[in-house]
Amino acid sequence: MMRLSYPQSFHVMAKPAGSACNLRCEYCFFLDKKSLYPGSKFRMGDDVHREYIRQLLDAHQTTRVTVAWQGGEPTLMGLDFYRRSLELQERYRKPSTVIENTFQTNGILLNDEWCSFFRKNNFLVGLSIDGPQRLHDRYRRDARGNGSFDRVLKAARLLQKHGVEFNILSTVNRKNMDRPLEVYRFFRDVLGARYIQFIPIVEREDADAIRTGGRIAGRSVSSTHWGSFLNSIFDEWVRSDVGATFVLNFDAVLAGWLGHAGTVCIFGPTCGLGVALEHNGDLYSCDHFVDTNHLLGNILTTPMIELVSSEKQRRFGRDKADTIPRQCRECRYLFICNGECPKNRLIETAEGEAGLNYLCEGYRAFFSHTEKPMKAMAGLMRMGRPASDVMRLTTGKKPFVHKSFPGVGRNDPCPCGARDAAGKRMKFKKCHGGER
Ligand code: SF4
Ligand code: SF4
Repeated sequence: MMRLSYPQSFHVMAKPAGSACNLRCEYCFFLDKKSLYPGSKFRMGDDVHREYIRQLLDAHQTTRVTVAWQGGEPTLMGLDFYRRSLELQERYRKPSTVIENTFQTNGILLNDEWCSFFRKNNFLVGLSIDGPQRLHDRYRRDARGNGSFDRVLKAARLLQKHGVEFNILSTVNRKNMDRPLEVYRFFRDVLGARYIQFIPIVEREDADAIRTGGRIAGRSVSSTHWGSFLNSIFDEWVRSDVGATFVLNFDAVLAGWLGHAGTVCIFGPTCGLGVALEHNGDLYSCDHFVDTNHLLGNILTTPMIELVSSEKQRRFGRDKADTIPRQCRECRYLFICNGECPKNRLIETAEGEAGLNYLCEGYRAFFSHTEKPMKAMAGLMRMGRPASDVMRLTTGKKPFVHKSFPGVGRNDPCPCGARDAAGKRMKFKKCHGGER
């Protein structure tokens, strides 16, 4: 039966080892969460594990369900925990349900056994690495202060040896923010990565007071660097790598131009459908809001679907739109950006209104710099052509000439769907048929 007041699907980021980790990355916002559970061993028990899987599969009204493992460091649970998880998933799966396990790791404990398990069970693995050794080891160190690069590189090679497709998760921080091409080429050419995601580090000096004042931590990326970092990589990617290397940050913006904004939660108009599950069954509003104010309840005592659908969580979700400042509401890129993640809304607008995103300047530079090629890719896709055809338009001295769109007349509406200030479809010659 259809349950109308409940969402059809939602995303749970499960932290079976809580915030426990075998590294001490200097920018990690999650290590401090230990203080929420004094004395805990930070290991998810079988009772919580069983309830988590059972409730997740029961609550979903969609055929595809993602079981997402994160941390802290989820490998600290040991492989048997995930073997048990597959048993539970099989036991509680509806006949038509297709389950996908995702697994975010720092790679330190990966070995042949782990990688063969991932391969056999189709886990989608995310590997955290910040670029070549010099850049990676600046912040990603162990408790003894030793860099972790060699061990992560070994993990990447092991994943490749076993044929496990993995996604690179790279933070952009003060150390690597002015090395975009060095970082990107390292992932593409040295690691052979096909899937990459960049995460901006934005932190207050006092992590607990992230929204209530305090200085931005020195390891954070600056807003302008965030924009120029993405722009530099985009310029290389759009000329040679579209369709071969997938950069989630670019895909998410392209989705916006295609009218599907919010394929990643940071660009969605509201929040609320991505909760975080702690090792003891506590459910929080979001991975970035694991604190006492955002504790929804415990899944051992209240069904997860009720917590996700609770008024408290709905309000949390609506707040993203309700508190967006006027500068965003009037921004020409609102339909892509939606003011980005509330955790980064740390500054004031020029008019003194609170709640502007710290990364706004960088995002605006990125959206504006990539607007024309993004629209071209969206136009190509609407015409049934691959987005990678954009690479033909971006080589040479005069990109975007109309010859690249055979069959489209100079006075025809531009295939990208762009409209002018009066809302009329733009002519091809005034849009992508003209020179950039
Ligand atoms: S708070 Fe940020 S990370 Fe959390 S759901 Fe909202 S946009 Fe996503
Ligand atoms: S680019 Fe800046 S002003 Fe525009 S929606 Fe995003 S955060 Fe708001």
